[in-house]
Amino acid sequence: MVKREAENDLITSFYFKREDGTELKEHKAGQFISIMPIKEGEHKSEVRQYSLSMKPGANFYRISVKREEKGLVSRYIHENLNVGDVVDLTNPLGEFVLKEGNDKPLVLLSGGIGVTPMMSMLYKAADSNRKVIFAQAVLNSTAHTFKKELEEIKEANSNVESAIFYQTPLESDVLGEDYQYEGFMSKEWLETLPRDGEFYFCGPLGFMKHIYNTLKGMGISDENINYEMFGPSADLANM
Ligand SMILES: Cc1cc2nc3c(=O)[nH]c(=O)nc-3n(C[C@H](O)[C@H](O)[C@H](O)COP(=O)(O)OP(=O)(O)OC[C@H]3O[C@@H](n4cnc5c(N)ncnc54)[C@H](O)[C@@H]3O)c2cc1C
Repeated sequence: MVKREAENDLITSFYFKREDGTELKEHKAGQFISIMPIKEGEHKSEVRQYSLSMKPGANFYRISVKREEKGLVSRYIHENLNVGDVVDLTNPLGEFVLKEGNDKPLVLLSGGIGVTPMMSMLYKAADSNRKVIFAQAVLNSTAHTFKKELEEIKEANSNVESAIFYQTPLESDVLGEDYQYEGFMSKEWLETLPRDGEFYFCGPLGFMKHIYNTLKGMGISDENINYEMFGPSADLANM
């Protein structure tokens, strides 16, 4: 591990390079790696998945991990993983990837830590001429991840728009600056999105069900609805 950087109170990013200096396999935007960070004791060999949150083709892997207070591996990573440590990671895995060759408006919707694969997709799509709408729902500034990066991407790419939702803003959070909407990513707001768009989303289960049901209600076809669960995978159409 070559660098760790706190994104906010809950989430820290960890950067990796290969120990032998050889190149990392380029990931497809949206993919994750599996990591086995615990080396000793009864929990050694515990494996968890973390989405790659950097631009595809970077010369490092970056994962951004939310510390779960009672979580085994996320807490271990936050408390024990330091620069110079060697950990076992897989190559990039997963089928939740930004499809190629589509120029429909791209809508990336995230709730909480579900922003990680969306960030990688944003980097990938920002380089095209495609219109991109990046909407992020978080608790408030204490959990707002990639704020500065998003601003930099928007400054460099006029095709990218964003909408930030704070569920419960702090008194010091500024409407119009830190966030654009207070509360949840509402049905009314979702209904303003382009109906000819291609949608990707990731977040807590309740968020995912709400987004899925709203998109279906708007008449968006399944081929334009793409999502990933951070827990056990499930079919939102049957929930
Ligand atoms: C494809 C994929 C991509 C993912 N990408 C990311 C990512 O980019 N970033 C990220 O942070 N996570 C990501 N995850 C989730 C991640 O893999 C882990 O599931 C997460 O970090 C929790 O692991 P843990 O070992 O800390 O928690 P576990 O020990 O596995 O516990 C799971 C949950 O149960 C709760 N829990 C555990 N014990 C108790 C208890 N005694 N009482 C009450 N609650 C308890 C924990 O708080 C936690 O929420 C991803 C998952 C998948 C499948």
